[in-house]
Amino acid sequence: MTRNQAQAPPLVLTVAGSDSGGGAGIQADLKTMLALGAHGMSVIAAVTAQNSLGVQGYWELPPEAVRAQLDSVLSDIGADAIKTGMLASTALVETVAAVLAEVTVPVVVDPVGVSKHGDTLLAPEALDAVRSVLLPTATVVTPNLWEVDQLTGVKVVDESGLREAAEAVKALGPRWVLIKGGHLPGEPADLLFDGEREYRFTAARHDNRHTHGTGCTLASAIASYLALGEDVPAAVGKAKEYVTGAIAAGFPLGAGIGPVDHFW
Ligand code: PLP
Repeated sequence: MTRNQAQAPPLVLTVAGSDSGGGAGIQADLKTMLALGAHGMSVIAAVTAQNSLGVQGYWELPPEAVRAQLDSVLSDIGADAIKTGMLASTALVETVAAVLAEVTVPVVVDPVGVSKHGDTLLAPEALDAVRSVLLPTATVVTPNLWEVDQLTGVKVVDESGLREAAEAVKALGPRWVLIKGGHLPGEPADLLFDGEREYRFTAARHDNRHTHGTGCTLASAIASYLALGEDVPAAVGKAKEYVTGAIAAGFPLGAGIGPVDHFW
């Protein structure tokens, strides 16, 4: 594998949780960034004990430890794009949002609530802070339909509900909203919306249960393409292609749900 050594790679920072099984979270983020030619950096907000069967436990870092990691990276190295994932608590959401409010680079917020296995990754009372201080910092926010319901109360049952969902999330302050409709019946359809323009993305459904890390991978791919200079609709389109390939290449691991693959 080679990269054009004459050109410095774009810098992409993830602020998220560690997945000890290597399929989601920080580990998926860094693999995505590597695969797309970016230099990945990681601020760890929480550590999960996790495998293919689920999340057995998690521990948050103290807010000052998260703040110190952010200061270390941004004061010296800088970033061309930032992605957030699992932030676990109100205190961490507020700490991270305060830093993001001061940056000028694109921010991709994956408003992680629960894992595919149903394990909670965000304290329910932290939703207020996600709504009020984190989402207004987002260049793009990438909720799935469960997260749309948690954030806005809007329940989407078919593709015709995606626009209403996007409008409800947009009202919380992000510049762009990408509603992930992958759990709807039929072909997966996502809607990207900035308050005026709407783009629909469809992809063939892959009959593969090994999809652990899909959401983290998509948000990191969007951040990587933004850092590479794409505009938001192009970055989302390319990121969707990347994640579709990664899902098709997902492989079994352990006794449960295996991860998407980053080289395909
Ligand atoms: N673990 C961590 C640390 C995560 O950030 C996430 C998702 O964002 C997950 C697990 C859940 O991944 P999935 O829902 O793809 O299984």
